[in-house]
Amino acid sequence: MTSAFSTASTSFAGTGHDHGTCVDSALIAAAAVCTKRGARLTPLRRRVLELIWRSHAPVGAYDLLRALTATQRGAAPPTIYRALDFLLAHGLVHRIESLNAFVGCAHPQQAHGGQFLICADCGAAAEVHDPRVDAAIGRRASELGFSVRHKTVEVQGLCTPCQKRQEAPGHGS
Ligand SMILES: [Zn+2]
Ligand SMILES: [Zn+2]
Ligand SMILES: [Zn+2]
Repeated sequence: MTSAFSTASTSFAGTGHDHGTCVDSALIAAAAVCTKRGARLTPLRRRVLELIWRSHAPVGAYDLLRALTATQRGAAPPTIYRALDFLLAHGLVHRIESLNAFVGCAHPQQAHGGQFLICADCGAAAEVHDPRVDAAIGRRASELGFSVRHKTVEVQGLCTPCQKRQEAPGHGS
């Protein structure tokens, strides 16, 4: 499958996994969350979510717009931003601030701050989703009387394939 995105399609979940299953269960979970809250997952919002789920790599709003206009004429930036606002508000996607990009969440049923391991080389991101991290941040914040707005943890590093590439003989100069 070719990707219209400039971000790498490499995933911590492994390139060999059945990504169709990831997409299907993400869309089912999204529909369930929206039904439960009485929120409307319109065809456009669903389409944007699908585009974000094309891979496990975070994708920028501009790339989303480009992918959307390929199938839907007249899609303008406000259309994308409104859809993203909706998806963020319902926890269906996370925003990765350091990349200014968005990534789908596999477990939107539980409210959580996202924790991500982000590869500095290929841009792939893996969600850690450990409730203990959330709880630790929440506990410390309340001890300090700190009011938390966003709890996204972004850890920069190198994924296994990128480490292997860098160790390979002949890499670099
Ligand atoms: Zn997948
Ligand atoms: Zn998540
Ligand atoms: Zn990598």
